[in-house]
Amino acid sequence: MQFIIATGNAHKLTELERILNPLGINAASTKSLGISLDDVEETGTTFEENAYLKAKAACDKTGLPAVADDSGLCVNALNGAPGVYSARYAGENATDKERYEKLLKEMEGITDRTAYFVSAVCCVWPNGDTLTVRGECHGTIGFEPLGEGGFGYDPIFMVGDQSYSQMTPAEKDAISHRGRALVKLQQALQEILG
Ligand code: IMP
Repeated sequence: MQFIIATGNAHKLTELERILNPLGINAASTKSLGISLDDVEETGTTFEENAYLKAKAACDKTGLPAVADDSGLCVNALNGAPGVYSARYAGENATDKERYEKLLKEMEGITDRTAYFVSAVCCVWPNGDTLTVRGECHGTIGFEPLGEGGFGYDPIFMVGDQSYSQMTPAEKDAISHRGRALVKLQQALQEILG
């Protein structure tokens, strides 16, 4: 099955391709087709709405079925922040490091470190059909960045005693919010396609 992956984030693209390809889903990136999604505003208040907005835009621009992920980190002691604003948490042009450092600062003195990552994955087909799935991974916010791998908030998101950054790609995919959403996507696609 051919899908276009609607993301401008190279790290997400790597993870989506890594997980989708073994599921028999052949995914091309918007970039490889010369499509930009810079004009798509993430105006939704939920991960699901924003995933739909991105997939719909890519489908409209290419005429191909499109898949998009909208994801973020929700911290219980901060009432779910940064949540859908995870990418913009430290301003539009901030680096990953500036974002997680801001969150660590915000968490100073807070003992409830529980948090969870969410990934909503939406597929939009040219005939208007849609399919949305959600994956979550529950863990805690660490006290310092740990590990070298991954991207985004990976160095400070702990599952047990390991940060996402300290896991191998395969270890992260097996438990991550995006990995879990994409397994659900595969199951749903199998049901739809028989
Ligand atoms: P989006 O492009 O609006 O979905 O932004 C997602 C935000 O959450 C970005 O700041 C990412 O760095 C962060 N994020 C999403 N998934 C992950 C992940 O697997 N690890 C670390 N950060 C992530």
